[in-house]
Amino acid sequence: MIIFKRVAHLQNWVRTRKKENKVIGFIPTMGALHQGHLSLADKSKEECDITIVSIFVNPKQFNDPQDLLKYPRPIDEDLRLLLHHNIDVLFLPDVEDIYPSSNQEKLDFEPGELGNVMEGKFRPGHFAGVAEVMYRLLNIVSPDRLFMGQKDFQQLTIVRKLIHDAHLPVLLLRCLTSREPNGLAMSSRNLRLSSSARKQATIIFQTLQNSKIKFDHGESIEQIKKEAISELSLDNFKPEYFSIVDGLTLADINDQSESGFVVACCAVHVEGIRLIDNMIWKENK
Ligand code: AMP
Repeated sequence: MIIFKRVAHLQNWVRTRKKENKVIGFIPTMGALHQGHLSLADKSKEECDITIVSIFVNPKQFNDPQDLLKYPRPIDEDLRLLLHHNIDVLFLPDVEDIYPSSNQEKLDFEPGELGNVMEGKFRPGHFAGVAEVMYRLLNIVSPDRLFMGQKDFQQLTIVRKLIHDAHLPVLLLRCLTSREPNGLAMSSRNLRLSSSARKQATIIFQTLQNSKIKFDHGESIEQIKKEAISELSLDNFKPEYFSIVDGLTLADINDQSESGFVVACCAVHVEGIRLIDNMIWKENK
């Protein structure tokens, strides 16, 4: 595995690979890697000639400075996992490499309503920070394919809009959410949960599943949401939202007939750690 820290070195290397007509897959991450990240890398390895993973804890997407400070950075373990998965390249820039003082230009991109709902409502500035780093990373790495997890459904939807609006020549692929055996969506944040909370947090996946059954049986959207919030309200658990939205516009739907692409998304605080998850309930192909 080649590790690049400097932008110019990575760019030179990628340029040469492109002259050789290699298809380049890219997986941007913030490290503390788990099977979810690695499943994206494995997908890229299946579909592309070269797989590049980046690890960069993007300060611009944290609205809470404590959250940024506490973000886990187990770099030795990350390196071990990437080597084990035969990743070709790790891009490991510093903040100054991505946001050089010589280029403080702000990205001119407006996620619009996509950025105002769900996560956007509770984490002001978060998606502007995500869009900024994704724009910079995609320009630096210039991959052919970008692999992102359905786990962060809203993020993926906003990045799709960014790629479209900024005419970025990359194909975005949505990859399935990897889950722990009890159904809890894998996340770097799970490491901060006590073992009992980690077990109890299976209720998030179960609620998404139970609610889908109600949805399939035609129960009203309002009722499903109300019952889901009550299911998620265990001791130590504080549900923030349980939204049922159109998968393209992320607008709330009030009735099944309003959308052919329905996604349920939720955020729950467990022992003060904020967990998110979602499930696609209907997707007309
Ligand atoms: P992060 O390091 O949290 O910024 O995530 C980097 C990428 O990994 C994003 O595209 C996430 O959606 C994806 N990801 C995170 N957790 C999972 C998971 N449990 N399953 C699949 N993809 C994931």
